[in-house]
Amino acid sequence: VNILGIETSCDETAVAIVKNGREIISNVVASQIESHKRFGGVVPEIASRHHVEQITLVLEEAFNQAEMDWEDIDAIAVTEGPGLVGALLVGVNTAKALAFAKHKPLIGVHHIAGHIYANRLESEFTFPLLALIVSGGHTELVLMRAHGEYQVIGETRDDAAGEAYDKVARMLELPYPGGPHIDRLASEGEESIDFPRAWLEAGSYDFSFSGLKSAVINKIHNGKQRGEIIKKEDVAASFQASVVEVLTEKTLRAAEEYQVEQVIVAGGVAANQGLRKSLDQKFSGTGIPLKIPSLKLCTDNAAMIAAAGAISYERGNTAKLDLNANASLLLK
Ligand code: ATP
Ligand code: MG
Ligand code: FE
Repeated sequence: VNILGIETSCDETAVAIVKNGREIISNVVASQIESHKRFGGVVPEIASRHHVEQITLVLEEAFNQAEMDWEDIDAIAVTEGPGLVGALLVGVNTAKALAFAKHKPLIGVHHIAGHIYANRLESEFTFPLLALIVSGGHTELVLMRAHGEYQVIGETRDDAAGEAYDKVARMLELPYPGGPHIDRLASEGEESIDFPRAWLEAGSYDFSFSGLKSAVINKIHNGKQRGEIIKKEDVAASFQASVVEVLTEKTLRAAEEYQVEQVIVAGGVAANQGLRKSLDQKFSGTGIPLKIPSLKLCTDNAAMIAAAGAISYERGNTAKLDLNANASLLLK
């Protein structure tokens, strides 16, 4: 079974072909980062326009790389939400038009289910499974007892992890997206600043990063006023230490409480070297297998959408041609 995946929820236009939900045949991603950089973040109108310009080219390239034709495709999976509505609409309308014209089943995919299923392109799932999702818009702990079944056991109450990275990066005058820059600086700095850890109530698997963000902003601001020299590297290292410690500890505690067979990590912040190292260390002693996708599959791509779509396809869970983009679609 070959699934064509389409992803346009934010600022990458992506099309991929995945075989049997596990094997990448082609995976093309056109990033718009260069166009958004000068605004310090994603500008929705610009994103939509770029998707319109890119989608046909990216689609063609995905077929070329795969050396496949439409007759080789069994279904079309597309991100239906969450994300920027104008951006999502480009993918959804493209997928609907193609499904109609080429007589292929259509499958709507939740973007975060996609991030989770990026892991299945590299190793098979074993249930029950705990997924830590850390991306630009989400920070969640999701328990899965079977394919396609999601129970959110914790989520952020304010900023997402990636959002906190990007905002702190902006304070440090680093380019957008700031996550990778902070990651690099952190490896050169010392954890000399004692930033808060937001543990929340005992037993809670929720997250909060806005207090930490404010603490970083205050530190930089007060330092400037007093004429203190605060090294960016040390701010980055100390900020990252706080984020990573909370993410690692809560993931470990949830994995033990729910006695999961596997822990997987997903989303753009899963590319973070500090987080990867910390999780590796913590889980190595527990006997619970930990899987983190290779860097390329952490950030937005369409192979992950096709991989998640494969499960719906197996179950006959297809969409009608009235499928609509939903900017705030829930994972369920
Ligand atoms: P969502 O998936 O929640 O809709 P999104 O698709 O915009 O949001 P992703 O593409 O999954 O998010 O991830 C992008 C985020 O990952 C950005 O916030 C970026 O700064 C962050 N990121 C990427 N690499 C790293 C890194 N090495 N360290 C920390 N953060 C990183
Ligand atoms: Mg992106
Ligand atoms: Fe994403």
